[in-house]
Amino acid sequence: MNDAQIIDGKAIAADLTDKLAVRTKVFVAKTGNAPCLAVVLVGDDPASAVYVRNKGKTAEKVGFKSIQKILPADTPEDKLIKIINDFNNDDGINGILVQLPLPDHIDEGKIIDLIAPEKDVDGFHPINVGRLGAGDFVNALIPCTPAGSVILAKSALGDNLSGMNAVIIGRSNIVGKPVAQLLLKENCTVTIAHSRTKDLPDVVRSADIVVAAVGRPEMIKGDWIKSGATVIDVGINRVDAPEKGDGKTKLVGDVNFGEASQVAGAITPVPGGVGPMTIALLMENTFTAACRQHGLSIA
Ligand code: NAD
Repeated sequence: MNDAQIIDGKAIAADLTDKLAVRTKVFVAKTGNAPCLAVVLVGDDPASAVYVRNKGKTAEKVGFKSIQKILPADTPEDKLIKIINDFNNDDGINGILVQLPLPDHIDEGKIIDLIAPEKDVDGFHPINVGRLGAGDFVNALIPCTPAGSVILAKSALGDNLSGMNAVIIGRSNIVGKPVAQLLLKENCTVTIAHSRTKDLPDVVRSADIVVAAVGRPEMIKGDWIKSGATVIDVGINRVDAPEKGDGKTKLVGDVNFGEASQVAGAITPVPGGVGPMTIALLMENTFTAACRQHGLSIA
């Protein structure tokens, strides 16, 4: 029996944004402009609306200019394309994010391909995906959730992850695959597990670092975790919480936190783990994009 260190993503994210606010003041003094993040939301999905609002609030908190374009669900694809082209051509906008998912009548891939790679602060454009794959960290913009996950792992393990066994559960383009690239860069031995992986519990038991990005509530059990491992739970799942009252819900991760925290060395909670890091890294990416566009070093 062991009590894992709880990795406080909220505090680590707040520390990052506090430091970024100071760096932003220097940027403004040098350029006369604040970095500007433009976020586009199509439709009225309540969760997406909350994410977009929080992105705007955090941008303003660190001293950025924030533009939010909220469009109705039936917005024609052509109209969205024009808005992105306008943002691409506007030198006053440094970062562009289109909140996903988009309504079915809009081709998500086409929209992502359209965002200027140097303004693609989500890091989803094929050019940025390719740069990450090729290890070009000088020019790439790195997806926010994966970057935040690695920072949290390092907060528990220190900066040197070399030689550690990392098992990532989930192979999505937005989480699993980029986390794998980042951990390879850190010289981890990386395994990507997924829905067809055989003997998943055994694979996970080999991990010094577990990154769970599946989208299945509490799927990863305590007895899958090696004693002392570091567990980064990316999953965000809303489940019924009758103990809180009729019709109430709560958020849980992909890892059974109660069980895993008895075995792990360190573990992220849900909420309050990876989630807050995603927004903080979005701000970092916007700052990075703005510095590159102004030819400034990213101090
Ligand atoms: P996704 O649905 O695109 O990918 C899920 C992956 O899990 C797939 O690769 C699939 O092969 C794998 N998988 C599914 N069932 C499995 C099983 N039984 N065993 C092993 N692997 C299985 O999801 P995603 O976009 O990568 O998101 C994953 C989770 O992370 C979701 O809960 C999502 O809400 C959350 N998320 C959180 C943040 C954040 O900011 N914290 C950001 C992005 C995603």
